[in-house]
Amino acid sequence: MIRSHKIRLNPTPEQEIYFRKAAGTKRFVYNWGLDRWKWAKSQGVAIYGMMAAKKEFNALKQEQFPWVYDVAKDVMEGAFQDLGTALKNYFDSKSGKRKGAKVGFPKFKSKRSSHQSFRLNNDKFRVDGHTIRIPKLGEVNMAEALRFSGKIMGAVVSRSADWWFVSIQVEIDKPEPIVFEKESTGVDVGIKALATLSDGSEFENQKPLRSQINRLRKLSRSLSRRQQGSNRWWKAKRKLERFHLTVANRRLDAQHKASHAIAATYAFIGLEELHIKGMLKNRRLSLAISDVGLGEFARQVCYKSDAFGGVTVKIGRFFASSKLCSDCGYVNKELTLSDRKWTCQGCGVLHPRDWNAAKNIEQEALRLVVAR
Ligand SMILES: [Zn+2]
Repeated sequence: MIRSHKIRLNPTPEQEIYFRKAAGTKRFVYNWGLDRWKWAKSQGVAIYGMMAAKKEFNALKQEQFPWVYDVAKDVMEGAFQDLGTALKNYFDSKSGKRKGAKVGFPKFKSKRSSHQSFRLNNDKFRVDGHTIRIPKLGEVNMAEALRFSGKIMGAVVSRSADWWFVSIQVEIDKPEPIVFEKESTGVDVGIKALATLSDGSEFENQKPLRSQINRLRKLSRSLSRRQQGSNRWWKAKRKLERFHLTVANRRLDAQHKASHAIAATYAFIGLEELHIKGMLKNRRLSLAISDVGLGEFARQVCYKSDAFGGVTVKIGRFFASSKLCSDCGYVNKELTLSDRKWTCQGCGVLHPRDWNAAKNIEQEALRLVVAR
């Protein structure tokens, strides 16, 4: 299985120039390839594979684009690779071969876009402790050492909020199945607590955005007061972007700790199929939800449990986990989103909302498995 680790880089100013140059080269080659593809299509050539485009580019580069030699060769190859994938995803999505959200036709990459990236292939760079060695550049310092050991498959160098990162993909062996401490649980993924389990235990939500909301307001205000495009405006914009990124990283960290603990403890885990898109339509909920990233958390629980040799079962999103009494099966139709507790009219038990939901999720997941 392949895992990736995203690490912040500490480039020198010269190295940063190389990164910008490489990202610019990637953008140029990607756009060039897309342009050729469109031209070929206009000439009635339906399939114009990236192999042909690459060959054409290679024949021209010495004469027309000699600056591509300033950066690693992978940058150019990665651009064709990415474009090929983008086109394939578009056509597979159109034909129904690819499930999930519709994928749009690839767009030309803008110079103004804050997202810049380029790819490095596995045999072209080396990682050693806090250092990554990149062709035609040399050693760049990494803020932390690579978390995984195994065969390195590739890397993507990218910029966000004016920081540079490298995401390294590593093929790791599936760990030996572990002996789980506990048999089964149900997980209610939520906003108040990140996760409530059917034994009543809770994983707290860090909600970093809420606790730092004043700082966010201050940064946003200072951005809006400045003249758009001015130096001071760019500086304020960068500060705000960095703030968002720090908050997102902290959230991800909390989620990783909780999902690891759950996946490593229970052999069988029931989860709810969350319909995040539908939930986001609810204005009041949307801030809190985008804050906690529920979909990402459920995804982590699933892949980590699988890695430990555990089993996860998702129950359908129409299953009324909150409204059902986990003791007697009575359905409380009057339950609203703001009710944190409710008393069952069937049996008189007082239910903390999320705990009751987690119990139902566990029971339903177990029932589904038996039914299969
Ligand atoms: Zn009841």
